[in-house]
Amino acid sequence: MIPLTSDTETRPTEAMRAAIAAAKVGDEQRREDPTVNLLLERVAQLLGKEAALFLPTGTMCNLIAVKTHTRAGDMMLAEREAHVLRAEAGGAGLVSGVLTEPLLGGSHGDARIAGTFTATELGDALDRITAMPAPYAPPPTLLCVEQTHNFGGGSIWPRERLAAVCARARERGMAVHMDGARLLNAVVASEVPASDWCSHVDSAWIDFTKGLGAPIGAVLAGSREFINQALRYKYAFGGAMRQAGIAAAGCLHALDHHIARLADDHANATQLAAGIAALPGLRLVYGMPQTNIVFFEPAPGTISAAEMARRCLERGLRIGTIGGKIRAVTHLDVSRAQVDEALGIMADALG
Ligand SMILES: *Cc1c(COP(=O)(O)O)cnc(C)c1O
Repeated sequence: MIPLTSDTETRPTEAMRAAIAAAKVGDEQRREDPTVNLLLERVAQLLGKEAALFLPTGTMCNLIAVKTHTRAGDMMLAEREAHVLRAEAGGAGLVSGVLTEPLLGGSHGDARIAGTFTATELGDALDRITAMPAPYAPPPTLLCVEQTHNFGGGSIWPRERLAAVCARARERGMAVHMDGARLLNAVVASEVPASDWCSHVDSAWIDFTKGLGAPIGAVLAGSREFINQALRYKYAFGGAMRQAGIAAAGCLHALDHHIARLADDHANATQLAAGIAALPGLRLVYGMPQTNIVFFEPAPGTISAAEMARRCLERGLRIGTIGGKIRAVTHLDVSRAQVDEALGIMADALG
């Protein structure tokens, strides 16, 4: 089976398993796990932040970050297809009691910036939210940005656009949080260091279970004060662990061995997208990918996305559907040969 559903499908490599087996461990709740502590130092430095927190999942990073940055009744802004709004079971509302205002991100005709928005668009939204004077309007206190943007086809924020958006948010007294599940894909593709991207935001996290290929773990980073507050929620939400060095060792191995190779995934995604674009009956939703995510759809009046995915599955290719579109994601368990094979299967499935 060719696994193109998600880059979460990666399995730990033999070398990663060896690193995990050899991990020095301690009680993470007591902050005595040396492998976790080393990972936190490494990620804080990588992202250019003072401190960091080890958590089991990226979803918990977003959950805790929103809780730390807001109070119940505050308004959080995010692009309308953002993972924090679309794919986290309403956690932000459930746990933090925030109202959410979706921003129309956007393609606006330019597919390469799907999932991003401009400072003017943010300013207009804030004007709308605060049209009623205080104390009528809910206070907008948090902006979430996603890098890369998952449901925007792995798009990378244009650098000046992100800087301007974050500056505008600051002017309006808001904190900015980056969902950086795939930030390192953006780093490799853009050749802009992670610390540079993160210099615009108050908090950011990276996921180790996407293209980095580890089985468990995400790290949230920010100022020492932010992390000290977030620490309480890590315990409250049951995210404080014990011999978590077992998981952190996989993450450290990924930092050392799986970052530069993300470029291979991007090259494979480009190859895949070019092949899809050349197939009559399929079309790319966002044009050519910038990183490792390709969204495409059957041409109107042909088969449905679900039917296409079903036919591919029968032929040994697993792809996912999201809202009538098909998503294919490349990662370290997908070779160039498998990309070519996948294109053959798609052609066959179209009939
Ligand atoms: C996967 C993902 C998450 C959630 O991460 P988990 O580790 O699966 O909980 C959050 N945001 C984005 C953009 C993601 O792609």
